[in-house]
Amino acid sequence: MTAIDHQSAIEKAQLSELQPMLVGGQLKAADGGDTLPALNPTTGSALTTFPVARKPDVDEAVAAARKALAEGPWWKDWGPHKRAKCLRKLAELCRDRSRELSRIESLDVGMPRGFATKFSVAALVRNLEYYASWADKLYGSTIPQTSTNSLDYTRLEPYGVIASIISWNTPLLFVGSKLGPALATGNAVILKPSELACLGPLRVAELVQEAGIPDGIVQVLTGDGETGRLLVEHEGVDKVSFTGGRETARKVQVAAAKCLKPVLFELGGKSPNIVFDDADLGRATMMSTLGIFGLTGQACAAGSRLLVHRSVHDQLLGGIAAFAQGLQVGDPMDPATMLGPLISGQHKDRVQSFIDNGEPQGASLHLKAELRDGLADGTNFLGPHIFTGVAPGMTLWDDEVFGPVLSVTPFDSDEEALRLANQTQYGLAAGVWTEKLSRAHKMAAGLEAGVVWINNYGTLPNNVPFGGFKQSGWGKEGGRDALMEYTRVKNVLVDLS
Ligand code: NDP
Repeated sequence: MTAIDHQSAIEKAQLSELQPMLVGGQLKAADGGDTLPALNPTTGSALTTFPVARKPDVDEAVAAARKALAEGPWWKDWGPHKRAKCLRKLAELCRDRSRELSRIESLDVGMPRGFATKFSVAALVRNLEYYASWADKLYGSTIPQTSTNSLDYTRLEPYGVIASIISWNTPLLFVGSKLGPALATGNAVILKPSELACLGPLRVAELVQEAGIPDGIVQVLTGDGETGRLLVEHEGVDKVSFTGGRETARKVQVAAAKCLKPVLFELGGKSPNIVFDDADLGRATMMSTLGIFGLTGQACAAGSRLLVHRSVHDQLLGGIAAFAQGLQVGDPMDPATMLGPLISGQHKDRVQSFIDNGEPQGASLHLKAELRDGLADGTNFLGPHIFTGVAPGMTLWDDEVFGPVLSVTPFDSDEEALRLANQTQYGLAAGVWTEKLSRAHKMAAGLEAGVVWINNYGTLPNNVPFGGFKQSGWGKEGGRDALMEYTRVKNVLVDLS
Protein backbone atom coordinates (compact mmCIF):
# COMPACT_ATOMS: atom_id res chain seq x y z
CA MET A 1 0.00 0.00 0.00
CA THR A 2 1.24 3.50 -0.75
CA ALA A 3 0.83 6.67 1.22
CA ILE A 4 -1.49 7.84 -1.56
CA ASP A 5 -5.18 8.21 -0.89
CA HIS A 6 -7.26 9.20 -3.87
CA GLN A 7 -10.52 7.89 -2.47
CA SER A 8 -12.53 10.84 -3.75
CA ALA A 9 -11.45 10.12 -7.35
CA ILE A 10 -12.46 6.49 -6.87
CA GLU A 11 -15.87 7.52 -5.55
CA LYS A 12 -16.37 9.96 -8.42
CA ALA A 13 -15.56 7.20 -10.93
CA GLN A 14 -18.77 5.46 -9.79
CA LEU A 15 -17.57 1.95 -10.35
CA SER A 16 -20.08 -0.68 -9.37
CA GLU A 17 -19.07 -3.91 -7.67
CA LEU A 18 -19.03 -5.68 -11.02
CA GLN A 19 -18.50 -3.75 -14.25
CA PRO A 20 -20.53 -5.63 -16.85
CA MET A 21 -19.32 -6.36 -20.37
CA LEU A 22 -21.26 -5.71 -23.58
CA VAL A 23 -22.47 -8.77 -25.49
CA GLY A 24 -25.08 -8.63 -28.25
CA GLY A 25 -26.48 -5.33 -26.98
CA GLN A 26 -26.70 -6.45 -23.33
CA LEU A 27 -24.55 -5.23 -20.45
CA LYS A 28 -23.95 -8.45 -18.57
CA ALA A 29 -21.82 -10.71 -16.41
CA ALA A 30 -19.97 -13.71 -17.82
CA ASP A 31 -22.00 -16.85 -18.41
CA GLY A 32 -20.16 -18.81 -15.73
CA GLY A 33 -20.04 -15.84 -13.33
CA ASP A 34 -16.22 -15.76 -13.26
CA THR A 35 -14.67 -12.43 -12.30
CA LEU A 36 -11.27 -10.85 -11.76
CA PRO A 37 -10.37 -7.83 -9.64
CA ALA A 38 -9.43 -4.58 -11.40
CA LEU A 39 -6.40 -3.52 -9.36
CA ASN A 40 -5.49 0.09 -8.82
CA PRO A 41 -1.78 0.22 -9.76
CA THR A 42 -1.27 3.23 -7.50
CA THR A 43 -2.45 1.64 -4.25
CA GLY A 44 -2.60 -2.07 -5.03
CA SER A 45 -6.26 -2.28 -3.91
CA ALA A 46 -9.14 -3.53 -6.01
CA LEU A 47 -11.19 -0.81 -7.72
CA THR A 48 -13.95 -3.21 -8.72
CA THR A 49 -14.32 -6.57 -10.46
CA PHE A 50 -14.97 -7.40 -14.10
CA PRO A 51 -16.29 -10.50 -15.89
CA VAL A 52 -14.04 -13.17 -17.31
CA ALA A 53 -15.47 -14.27 -20.65
CA ARG A 54 -15.07 -17.99 -21.33
CA LYS A 55 -16.03 -20.10 -24.34
CA PRO A 56 -19.83 -19.69 -24.04
CA ASP A 57 -19.43 -15.89 -23.86
CA VAL A 58 -17.03 -15.82 -26.79
CA ASP A 59 -19.39 -18.05 -28.82
CA GLU A 60 -22.31 -15.79 -27.94
CA ALA A 61 -20.45 -12.62 -28.92
CA VAL A 62 -19.23 -14.05 -32.22
CA ALA A 63 -22.74 -15.31 -33.04
CA ALA A 64 -24.20 -11.88 -32.20
CA ALA A 65 -21.66 -10.14 -34.43
CA ARG A 66 -22.30 -12.50 -37.35
CA LYS A 67 -26.04 -12.09 -36.96
CA ALA A 68 -25.73 -8.31 -36.82
CA LEU A 69 -23.75 -8.31 -40.06
CA ALA A 70 -25.92 -10.87 -41.86
CA GLU A 71 -29.35 -9.69 -40.74
CA GLY A 72 -28.91 -6.21 -39.31
CA PRO A 73 -28.72 -2.92 -41.23
CA TRP A 74 -25.11 -1.98 -40.45
CA TRP A 75 -23.44 -3.25 -43.58
CA LYS A 76 -26.34 -4.58 -45.69
CA ASP A 77 -28.83 -1.73 -45.65
CA TRP A 78 -27.25 1.35 -44.18
CA GLY A 79 -25.16 3.63 -46.32
CA PRO A 80 -21.86 4.93 -45.00
CA HIS A 81 -23.54 8.17 -43.89
CA LYS A 82 -25.47 6.37 -41.21
CA ARG A 83 -22.43 4.53 -39.95
CA ALA A 84 -20.61 7.87 -39.84
CA LYS A 85 -23.47 9.36 -37.84
CA CYS A 86 -23.15 6.62 -35.21
CA LEU A 87 -19.39 7.12 -34.97
CA ARG A 88 -19.85 10.88 -34.58
CA LYS A 89 -22.46 10.34 -31.90
CA LEU A 90 -20.17 7.96 -30.02
CA ALA A 91 -17.38 10.56 -30.26
CA GLU A 92 -19.74 13.23 -28.91
CA LEU A 93 -20.81 11.02 -26.00
CA CYS A 94 -17.19 10.29 -25.15
CA ARG A 95 -16.30 13.98 -25.36
CA ASP A 96 -19.19 14.86 -23.04
CA ARG A 97 -17.82 12.33 -20.57
CA SER A 98 -14.15 13.09 -21.03
CA ARG A 99 -13.66 14.07 -17.37
CA GLU A 100 -15.18 10.80 -16.23
CA LEU A 101 -13.32 8.74 -18.83
CA SER A 102 -9.96 10.34 -18.03
CA ARG A 103 -10.53 9.75 -14.32
CA ILE A 104 -11.19 6.06 -14.97
CA GLU A 105 -8.21 5.73 -17.33
CA SER A 106 -6.00 7.41 -14.76
CA LEU A 107 -7.15 5.17 -11.91
CA ASP A 108 -7.06 1.99 -13.96
CA VAL A 109 -3.71 2.48 -15.71
CA GLY A 110 -1.97 4.75 -13.18
CA MET A 111 -1.62 7.31 -15.97
CA PRO A 112 -1.25 10.97 -14.86
CA ARG A 113 -4.65 12.59 -15.19
CA GLY A 114 -3.42 15.27 -17.61
CA PHE A 115 -2.04 12.58 -19.96
CA ALA A 116 -5.27 10.65 -19.69
CA THR A 117 -7.25 13.72 -20.75
CA LYS A 118 -4.96 15.18 -23.39
CA PHE A 119 -3.56 11.95 -24.81
CA SER A 120 -5.79 8.91 -24.27
CA VAL A 121 -9.30 10.39 -24.18
CA ALA A 122 -8.50 13.13 -26.73
CA ALA A 123 -7.19 10.46 -29.12
CA LEU A 124 -10.30 8.33 -28.55
CA VAL A 125 -12.58 11.19 -29.57
CA ARG A 126 -10.37 12.37 -32.45
CA ASN A 127 -10.10 8.88 -33.92
CA LEU A 128 -13.86 8.28 -33.83
CA GLU A 129 -14.49 11.66 -35.50
CA TYR A 130 -11.71 11.28 -38.03
CA TYR A 131 -12.88 7.85 -39.20
CA ALA A 132 -16.51 8.98 -39.22
CA SER A 133 -15.44 11.50 -41.87
CA TRP A 134 -13.85 8.75 -43.96
CA ALA A 135 -16.91 6.47 -44.06
CA ASP A 136 -18.44 8.03 -47.21
CA LYS A 137 -15.14 8.81 -48.91
CA LEU A 138 -13.98 5.30 -49.63
CA TYR A 139 -14.73 3.73 -52.97
CA GLY A 140 -13.35 1.31 -55.49
CA SER A 141 -12.30 2.04 -59.05
CA THR A 142 -13.41 1.35 -62.60
CA ILE A 143 -10.71 -0.43 -64.57
CA PRO A 144 -10.74 0.06 -68.37
CA GLN A 145 -10.86 -3.16 -70.41
CA THR A 146 -9.84 -3.76 -74.04
CA SER A 147 -13.34 -4.77 -75.03
CA THR A 148 -16.09 -2.16 -74.82
CA ASN A 149 -18.34 -5.07 -73.90
CA SER A 150 -16.60 -5.45 -70.56
CA LEU A 151 -17.14 -3.42 -67.44
CA ASP A 152 -14.74 -3.97 -64.58
CA TYR A 153 -14.91 -2.33 -61.19
CA THR A 154 -13.77 -2.92 -57.62
CA ARG A 155 -15.70 -2.79 -54.38
CA LEU A 156 -14.21 -2.17 -50.94
CA GLU A 157 -15.89 -4.57 -48.54
CA PRO A 158 -15.45 -5.14 -44.81
CA TYR A 159 -13.78 -8.31 -43.54
CA GLY A 160 -16.71 -9.04 -41.26
CA VAL A 161 -16.03 -9.80 -37.60
CA ILE A 162 -12.85 -8.26 -36.20
CA ALA A 163 -11.39 -9.37 -32.87
CA SER A 164 -9.50 -6.35 -31.52
CA ILE A 165 -7.18 -7.40 -28.70
CA ILE A 166 -5.43 -4.57 -26.92
CA SER A 167 -2.74 -3.96 -24.31
CA TRP A 168 -3.15 -2.06 -21.05
CA ASN A 169 -1.00 1.03 -21.47
CA THR A 170 -3.44 3.41 -23.22
CA PRO A 171 -6.73 1.47 -23.49
CA LEU A 172 -8.99 4.38 -24.37
CA LEU A 173 -6.70 5.52 -27.15
CA PHE A 174 -6.87 1.98 -28.55
CA VAL A 175 -10.67 1.93 -28.38
CA GLY A 176 -10.67 4.86 -30.84
CA SER A 177 -7.91 3.55 -33.08
CA LYS A 178 -9.46 0.06 -33.29
CA LEU A 179 -13.16 0.95 -33.51
CA GLY A 180 -12.82 4.00 -35.77
CA PRO A 181 -11.47 2.45 -39.00
CA ALA A 182 -13.14 -0.95 -38.49
CA LEU A 183 -16.62 0.53 -38.02
CA ALA A 184 -16.26 3.20 -40.71
CA THR A 185 -15.62 0.41 -43.22
CA GLY A 186 -18.62 -1.65 -42.09
CA ASN A 187 -17.13 -4.35 -39.85
CA ALA A 188 -18.36 -5.60 -36.49
CA VAL A 189 -15.82 -5.45 -33.65
CA ILE A 190 -15.35 -7.59 -30.57
CA LEU A 191 -12.94 -5.67 -28.37
CA LYS A 192 -10.90 -7.57 -25.77
CA PRO A 193 -9.05 -5.23 -23.41
CA SER A 194 -6.28 -6.40 -21.11
CA GLU A 195 -7.12 -7.84 -17.71
CA LEU A 196 -4.71 -5.23 -16.31
CA ALA A 197 -6.76 -2.24 -17.53
CA CYS A 198 -10.24 -2.69 -18.96
CA LEU A 199 -12.41 -0.19 -17.09
CA GLY A 200 -12.20 2.63 -19.66
CA PRO A 201 -13.32 0.37 -22.54
CA LEU A 202 -16.15 -0.96 -20.35
CA ARG A 203 -17.37 2.59 -19.68
CA VAL A 204 -17.34 3.33 -23.44
CA ALA A 205 -19.32 0.10 -23.94
CA GLU A 206 -22.13 1.67 -21.92
CA LEU A 207 -22.40 4.43 -24.56
CA VAL A 208 -22.57 2.22 -27.63
CA GLN A 209 -26.34 1.78 -27.71
CA GLU A 210 -26.99 5.47 -27.10
CA ALA A 211 -24.81 6.18 -30.14
CA GLY A 212 -27.30 4.21 -32.25
CA ILE A 213 -24.88 1.39 -33.09
CA PRO A 214 -26.92 -1.77 -33.72
CA ASP A 215 -26.66 -4.66 -31.23
CA GLY A 216 -23.75 -6.98 -31.93
CA ILE A 217 -21.74 -4.48 -34.00
CA VAL A 218 -19.60 -3.35 -31.06
CA GLN A 219 -19.04 -5.76 -28.19
CA VAL A 220 -16.59 -5.62 -25.33
CA LEU A 221 -15.49 -8.93 -23.82
CA THR A 222 -13.31 -8.75 -20.73
CA GLY A 223 -11.21 -11.59 -19.41
CA ASP A 224 -7.64 -12.77 -19.58
CA GLY A 225 -5.23 -14.13 -22.15
CA GLU A 226 -7.39 -17.23 -22.54
CA THR A 227 -10.32 -15.03 -23.65
CA GLY A 228 -8.01 -13.53 -26.28
CA ARG A 229 -6.92 -16.99 -27.41
CA LEU A 230 -10.52 -18.17 -27.76
CA LEU A 231 -11.30 -15.17 -29.94
CA VAL A 232 -8.27 -15.63 -32.17
CA GLU A 233 -9.06 -19.33 -32.69
CA HIS A 234 -12.78 -18.80 -33.30
CA GLU A 235 -13.79 -19.69 -36.84
CA GLY A 236 -16.43 -16.96 -36.81
CA VAL A 237 -13.79 -14.24 -36.42
CA ASP A 238 -12.56 -12.99 -39.80
CA LYS A 239 -9.55 -10.91 -38.81
CA VAL A 240 -7.52 -10.19 -35.67
CA SER A 241 -6.24 -6.73 -34.85
CA PHE A 242 -3.71 -7.19 -32.06
CA THR A 243 -1.79 -4.66 -29.97
CA GLY A 244 0.61 -6.20 -27.49
CA GLY A 245 3.98 -7.82 -27.00
CA ARG A 246 5.80 -9.94 -29.56
CA GLU A 247 5.80 -13.10 -27.39
CA THR A 248 1.99 -13.05 -27.32
CA ALA A 249 1.94 -12.07 -31.00
CA ARG A 250 3.80 -15.30 -31.83
CA LYS A 251 1.05 -17.31 -30.11
CA VAL A 252 -1.61 -15.27 -31.90
CA GLN A 253 0.06 -15.91 -35.24
CA VAL A 254 0.21 -19.66 -34.64
CA ALA A 255 -3.44 -19.76 -33.51
CA ALA A 256 -4.58 -17.61 -36.44
CA ALA A 257 -2.67 -19.83 -38.86
CA LYS A 258 -4.99 -22.75 -38.05
CA CYS A 259 -7.67 -21.14 -40.20
CA LEU A 260 -5.34 -18.82 -42.16
CA LYS A 261 -6.82 -15.78 -40.50
CA PRO A 262 -5.26 -12.41 -41.36
CA VAL A 263 -3.67 -10.50 -38.50
CA LEU A 264 -2.78 -6.86 -37.93
CA PHE A 265 0.05 -6.58 -35.42
CA GLU A 266 1.00 -3.46 -33.45
CA LEU A 267 3.87 -4.65 -31.27
CA GLY A 268 6.71 -3.38 -29.14
CA GLY A 269 9.80 -1.38 -29.91
CA LYS A 270 13.36 -0.56 -28.92
CA SER A 271 13.36 2.77 -30.66
CA PRO A 272 16.58 4.72 -31.31
CA ASN A 273 16.60 8.46 -30.70
CA ILE A 274 19.66 9.91 -32.44
CA VAL A 275 21.11 13.27 -31.45
CA PHE A 276 23.79 14.79 -33.70
CA ASP A 277 26.32 17.45 -32.71
CA ASP A 278 24.47 20.15 -34.69
CA ALA A 279 21.12 19.56 -32.96
CA ASP A 280 19.15 22.10 -30.96
CA LEU A 281 20.27 20.53 -27.69
CA GLY A 282 17.75 22.37 -25.53
CA ARG A 283 14.80 20.96 -27.40
CA ALA A 284 16.44 17.57 -27.85
CA THR A 285 16.98 17.39 -24.08
CA MET A 286 13.36 18.09 -23.25
CA MET A 287 11.77 15.87 -25.89
CA SER A 288 14.21 12.99 -25.40
CA THR A 289 13.49 13.01 -21.65
CA LEU A 290 9.73 13.01 -22.13
CA GLY A 291 10.09 10.57 -25.04
CA ILE A 292 11.34 7.87 -22.67
CA PHE A 293 9.96 8.77 -19.25
CA GLY A 294 6.45 9.87 -20.32
CA LEU A 295 3.87 7.22 -19.34
CA THR A 296 6.63 5.91 -17.01
CA GLY A 297 8.30 4.39 -20.05
CA GLN A 298 5.27 2.20 -20.73
CA ALA A 299 4.91 3.38 -24.33
CA CYS A 300 5.46 1.21 -27.39
CA ALA A 301 7.33 3.98 -29.22
CA ALA A 302 9.38 5.13 -26.21
CA GLY A 303 12.80 6.45 -27.27
CA SER A 304 14.60 3.89 -25.13
CA ARG A 305 17.97 3.90 -26.93
CA LEU A 306 19.53 7.35 -27.00
CA LEU A 307 22.38 7.49 -29.51
CA VAL A 308 24.44 10.64 -29.04
CA HIS A 309 27.35 12.12 -30.99
CA ARG A 310 30.36 11.76 -28.72
CA SER A 311 31.14 15.50 -28.81
CA VAL A 312 27.81 16.40 -27.15
CA HIS A 313 27.35 13.17 -25.13
CA ASP A 314 28.20 14.57 -21.69
CA GLN A 315 26.31 17.83 -22.20
CA LEU A 316 23.13 16.12 -23.36
CA LEU A 317 23.36 13.43 -20.70
CA GLY A 318 23.74 16.06 -17.99
CA GLY A 319 20.69 17.93 -19.25
CA ILE A 320 18.52 14.83 -19.52
CA ALA A 321 19.56 13.53 -16.09
CA ALA A 322 18.79 16.92 -14.46
CA PHE A 323 15.41 17.14 -16.21
CA ALA A 324 14.52 13.53 -15.38
CA GLN A 325 15.41 13.98 -11.73
CA GLY A 326 12.97 16.88 -11.52
CA LEU A 327 10.01 14.89 -12.89
CA GLN A 328 7.52 14.25 -10.11
CA VAL A 329 6.75 10.60 -9.47
CA GLY A 330 3.54 9.94 -7.55
CA ASP A 331 -0.23 10.05 -7.45
CA PRO A 332 -1.56 10.14 -11.02
CA MET A 333 -4.42 12.32 -9.76
CA ASP A 334 -1.97 15.05 -8.69
CA PRO A 335 -1.67 17.58 -11.57
CA ALA A 336 2.09 17.93 -10.90
CA THR A 337 2.77 14.22 -11.39
CA MET A 338 4.67 13.26 -14.52
CA LEU A 339 5.31 9.58 -13.73
CA GLY A 340 2.59 7.41 -12.24
CA PRO A 341 3.17 3.82 -11.07
CA LEU A 342 3.99 0.88 -13.29
CA ILE A 343 0.94 -1.21 -14.11
CA SER A 344 1.60 -4.08 -11.65
CA GLY A 345 4.02 -5.53 -9.14
CA GLN A 346 4.91 -8.27 -11.60
CA HIS A 347 5.77 -5.71 -14.28
CA LYS A 348 7.84 -3.68 -11.79
CA ASP A 349 9.84 -6.81 -10.92
CA ARG A 350 10.45 -7.39 -14.63
CA VAL A 351 11.68 -3.80 -15.15
CA GLN A 352 13.81 -4.04 -12.00
CA SER A 353 15.50 -7.18 -13.33
CA PHE A 354 16.62 -5.22 -16.42
CA ILE A 355 18.02 -2.55 -14.09
CA ASP A 356 19.76 -5.15 -11.91
CA ASN A 357 21.38 -6.79 -14.93
CA GLY A 358 22.62 -3.50 -16.43
CA GLU A 359 25.94 -3.14 -14.59
CA PRO A 360 26.86 -6.87 -14.51
CA GLN A 361 26.53 -6.81 -18.30
CA GLY A 362 28.91 -3.83 -18.62
CA ALA A 363 26.68 -0.71 -18.66
CA SER A 364 27.07 2.09 -16.08
CA LEU A 365 24.17 3.30 -14.00
CA HIS A 366 24.28 7.09 -14.41
CA LEU A 367 20.98 8.02 -12.75
CA LYS A 368 18.71 6.30 -10.30
CA ALA A 369 16.10 8.86 -9.29
CA GLU A 370 15.16 8.35 -5.66
CA LEU A 371 11.49 8.19 -4.70
CA ARG A 372 10.03 10.26 -1.91
CA ASP A 373 9.01 8.57 1.35
CA GLY A 374 6.09 6.18 1.15
CA LEU A 375 6.54 5.49 -2.54
CA ALA A 376 9.59 3.27 -2.51
CA ASP A 377 8.83 -0.06 -0.87
CA GLY A 378 6.11 -2.51 -1.74
CA THR A 379 4.61 -0.26 -4.42
CA ASN A 380 4.58 -0.20 -8.20
CA PHE A 381 6.47 3.12 -8.39
CA LEU A 382 9.87 3.40 -10.04
CA GLY A 383 11.74 6.63 -10.85
CA PRO A 384 13.77 7.40 -13.98
CA HIS A 385 16.95 5.37 -14.53
CA ILE A 386 19.69 6.14 -17.05
CA PHE A 387 22.43 3.75 -18.15
CA THR A 388 25.45 4.80 -20.21
CA GLY A 389 27.78 2.69 -22.30
CA VAL A 390 24.97 0.39 -23.41
CA ALA A 391 26.04 -1.78 -26.34
CA PRO A 392 24.54 -4.42 -28.65
CA GLY A 393 24.29 -7.80 -26.95
CA MET A 394 23.27 -6.36 -23.57
CA THR A 395 19.65 -7.02 -22.62
CA LEU A 396 19.20 -3.27 -22.14
CA TRP A 397 19.99 -2.88 -25.82
CA ASP A 398 18.19 -5.91 -27.19
CA ASP A 399 14.96 -6.20 -25.19
CA GLU A 400 11.99 -3.91 -24.69
CA VAL A 401 11.98 -2.84 -21.02
CA PHE A 402 8.63 -0.98 -21.10
CA GLY A 403 9.63 1.04 -18.06
CA PRO A 404 11.47 4.27 -17.10
CA VAL A 405 14.92 3.15 -18.21
CA LEU A 406 17.00 5.02 -20.78
CA SER A 407 20.05 3.46 -22.44
CA VAL A 408 22.67 5.87 -23.78
CA THR A 409 25.35 5.06 -26.38
CA PRO A 410 27.85 7.41 -28.05
CA PHE A 411 28.66 7.39 -31.78
CA ASP A 412 31.30 9.11 -33.91
CA SER A 413 29.89 9.22 -37.45
CA ASP A 414 26.59 9.25 -39.33
CA GLU A 415 27.29 5.75 -40.64
CA GLU A 416 27.88 4.42 -37.15
CA ALA A 417 24.70 6.10 -35.86
CA LEU A 418 22.62 4.46 -38.59
CA ARG A 419 24.21 1.06 -38.09
CA LEU A 420 23.62 1.17 -34.33
CA ALA A 421 20.06 2.46 -34.76
CA ASN A 422 19.15 -0.44 -37.03
CA GLN A 423 20.93 -3.05 -34.89
CA THR A 424 17.72 -4.36 -33.34
CA GLN A 425 14.98 -6.84 -34.18
CA TYR A 426 12.43 -4.12 -33.59
CA GLY A 427 11.50 -1.31 -35.99
CA LEU A 428 8.69 0.74 -34.56
CA ALA A 429 9.94 4.33 -34.37
CA ALA A 430 13.07 6.50 -34.44
CA GLY A 431 14.03 10.10 -33.70
CA VAL A 432 16.67 12.22 -35.46
CA TRP A 433 17.95 15.53 -34.09
CA THR A 434 19.96 17.64 -36.52
CA GLU A 435 19.78 21.07 -38.16
CA LYS A 436 21.30 19.66 -41.37
CA LEU A 437 18.57 18.98 -43.92
CA SER A 438 20.48 16.44 -46.03
CA ARG A 439 21.55 14.45 -42.96
CA ALA A 440 17.96 14.40 -41.65
CA HIS A 441 16.54 13.01 -44.90
CA LYS A 442 19.35 10.50 -45.39
CA MET A 443 18.77 9.18 -41.88
CA ALA A 444 15.00 9.04 -42.48
CA ALA A 445 15.60 6.96 -45.61
CA GLY A 446 18.07 4.62 -43.92
CA LEU A 447 16.25 3.96 -40.67
CA GLU A 448 14.42 0.63 -40.46
CA ALA A 449 11.40 1.96 -38.60
CA GLY A 450 7.76 2.61 -39.45
CA VAL A 451 7.80 6.10 -37.94
CA VAL A 452 10.62 8.67 -38.04
CA TRP A 453 10.49 11.90 -36.09
CA ILE A 454 12.88 14.66 -37.10
CA ASN A 455 13.62 17.32 -34.46
CA ASN A 456 10.70 15.95 -32.51
CA TYR A 457 9.88 12.80 -30.58
CA GLY A 458 6.59 11.04 -29.95
CA THR A 459 4.07 13.34 -31.66
CA LEU A 460 1.23 11.18 -32.96
CA PRO A 461 -1.36 12.93 -35.13
CA ASN A 462 -4.25 10.54 -35.75
CA ASN A 463 -4.33 11.23 -39.51
CA VAL A 464 -0.91 9.71 -40.24
CA PRO A 465 0.01 6.02 -40.47
CA PHE A 466 1.51 4.39 -37.39
CA GLY A 467 2.94 0.90 -37.31
CA GLY A 468 6.21 -0.95 -37.13
CA PHE A 469 8.72 -2.63 -39.41
CA LYS A 470 10.51 -5.90 -38.58
CA GLN A 471 9.29 -7.48 -35.31
CA SER A 472 7.37 -4.34 -34.30
CA GLY A 473 4.35 -5.16 -36.39
CA TRP A 474 2.50 -5.74 -39.62
CA GLY A 475 0.10 -3.17 -40.98
CA LYS A 476 -0.85 0.32 -39.94
CA GLU A 477 -3.11 2.14 -37.59
CA GLY A 478 -3.91 5.82 -38.04
CA GLY A 479 -4.65 7.80 -41.17
CA ARG A 480 -6.01 6.45 -44.42
CA ASP A 481 -3.79 3.37 -44.27
CA ALA A 482 -5.72 1.95 -41.31
CA LEU A 483 -8.90 1.84 -43.39
CA MET A 484 -7.21 -0.47 -45.86
CA GLU A 485 -6.48 -2.91 -43.00
CA TYR A 486 -10.20 -3.37 -42.50
CA THR A 487 -11.35 -3.64 -46.13
CA ARG A 488 -11.07 -6.32 -48.77
CA VAL A 489 -10.98 -5.46 -52.46
CA LYS A 490 -13.49 -7.35 -54.59
CA ASN A 491 -13.16 -7.19 -58.36
CA VAL A 492 -16.33 -7.39 -60.46
CA LEU A 493 -16.11 -8.12 -64.19
CA VAL A 494 -19.32 -7.70 -66.19
CA ASP A 495 -19.85 -9.00 -69.70
CA LEU A 496 -22.06 -6.40 -71.37
CA SER A 497 -22.44 -8.17 -74.73
P1 NDP B 1 0.55 -8.72 -24.06
O1 NDP B 1 1.08 -9.26 -25.33
O2 NDP B 1 0.88 -9.39 -22.79
O3 NDP B 1 -1.06 -8.63 -24.10
C1 NDP B 1 -1.74 -7.97 -25.15
C2 NDP B 1 -3.18 -8.48 -25.19
O4 NDP B 1 -3.19 -9.85 -25.59
C3 NDP B 1 -3.89 -8.45 -23.84
O5 NDP B 1 -5.25 -8.11 -24.02
C4 NDP B 1 -3.75 -9.89 -23.37
O6 NDP B 1 -4.74 -10.26 -22.44
C5 NDP B 1 -3.95 -10.62 -24.68
N1 NDP B 1 -3.46 -12.00 -24.71
C6 NDP B 1 -2.63 -12.63 -23.85
N2 NDP B 1 -2.40 -13.89 -24.26
C7 NDP B 1 -3.10 -14.07 -25.40
C8 NDP B 1 -3.27 -15.16 -26.32
N3 NDP B 1 -2.64 -16.31 -26.15
N4 NDP B 1 -4.06 -14.97 -27.39
C9 NDP B 1 -4.68 -13.79 -27.61
N5 NDP B 1 -4.56 -12.74 -26.78
C10 NDP B 1 -3.78 -12.86 -25.69
O7 NDP B 1 1.02 -7.21 -24.04
P2 NDP B 1 0.84 -6.13 -22.90
O8 NDP B 1 -0.61 -5.94 -22.65
O9 NDP B 1 1.73 -6.45 -21.76
O10 NDP B 1 1.33 -4.81 -23.66
C11 NDP B 1 2.65 -4.42 -23.72
C12 NDP B 1 3.17 -4.63 -25.12
O11 NDP B 1 2.31 -4.00 -26.07
C13 NDP B 1 4.52 -3.98 -25.30
O12 NDP B 1 5.35 -4.83 -26.04
C14 NDP B 1 4.19 -2.73 -26.09
O13 NDP B 1 5.27 -2.21 -26.81
C15 NDP B 1 3.08 -3.21 -26.96
N6 NDP B 1 2.31 -2.10 -27.49
C16 NDP B 1 2.36 -1.82 -28.84
C17 NDP B 1 1.71 -0.71 -29.35
C18 NDP B 1 1.76 -0.36 -30.81
O14 NDP B 1 0.89 0.38 -31.27
N7 NDP B 1 2.73 -0.83 -31.57
C19 NDP B 1 0.96 0.18 -28.48
C20 NDP B 1 0.98 -0.21 -27.09
C21 NDP B 1 1.62 -1.31 -26.63
P3 NDP B 1 -4.47 -10.15 -20.86
O15 NDP B 1 -3.72 -8.86 -20.63
O16 NDP B 1 -5.83 -10.12 -20.29
O17 NDP B 1 -3.64 -11.34 -20.51
